[in-house]
Amino acid sequence: MKGQVALITGASRGIGRAIALKLASQGSDVALLARDTARLEEVASEARASGVRALVVHVDMSDGDAVEQAVKKAITEMGSLDHVVANAGITADQLSIRLKPEDWDRVLAVNLTGSFRLARAALSSMLRSRTGRVVFISSVSGLMGNPGQAAYAASKAGLLGLAKSLAKEVGSRGITVNVVAPGLIETDMARALSEAQRAEMVAHVPLGRLGRAEEVAAAVSFLLSEEAGYITGAVLNISGGLYM
Ligand code: NAD
Repeated sequence: MKGQVALITGASRGIGRAIALKLASQGSDVALLARDTARLEEVASEARASGVRALVVHVDMSDGDAVEQAVKKAITEMGSLDHVVANAGITADQLSIRLKPEDWDRVLAVNLTGSFRLARAALSSMLRSRTGRVVFISSVSGLMGNPGQAAYAASKAGLLGLAKSLAKEVGSRGITVNVVAPGLIETDMARALSEAQRAEMVAHVPLGRLGRAEEVAAAVSFLLSEEAGYITGAVLNISGGLYM
């Protein structure tokens, strides 16, 4: 999207990388955030090949103050901020009874609190310019629950409440806030599942396959576009029908 500045967290690989490259291919300047700056630099080079500016900012999403600083840095260096995609996320899969409290805390800190601190920092700039788009990457696990994913599902369900509340808080300023909920997508996160777990999940997918990161990126790009200007507080499942 020509002339727009987009910030994407977890842009070093997987879905975040696909979103960054999709937006860059459409003409957006991109601020890429994650911990792995070497991989972010590679994504930045690929983005620049589309003729846009790409900034790499190191951040650990579990450190809320660092997240707010990273957003400020991105705004200062890029000059403005139009689109934010809260994509970075982690899992700590374990049956609840065995889940360590520190793993629960870590998942909630990165997936939910980090996303809140990110959106809060971005919105304070968007509210001044009276325009902006925020997309949170949730998961069908947050909509339907998943055994062994209590922390992850709780964090992803939390994003729905966060997004809908923010949508109501900032709608009058022309800012939209939406959620994309992927199903099983072919990335490192999905590759961490065993063959048996994957087969079991695919068996419940009407389209009979895993999704591609590019298919999630296409939905995010639509929600950030001019055409999606009347959509806010929505949850868009990209799950091949796993959840409907
Ligand atoms: P991935 O593990 O391939 O990538 C995760 C990204 O987040 C990486 O760039 C990583 O560096 C970053 N990240 C993780 N912890 C971080 C931290 N503490 N600070 C900063 N960055 C951090 O995962 P993915 O599959 O690309 O997932 C992206 C998003 O999509 C996640 O929020 C995930 O929950 C969600 N999702 C993925 C799937 C799937 O099947 N792959 C399904 C539903 C939802």
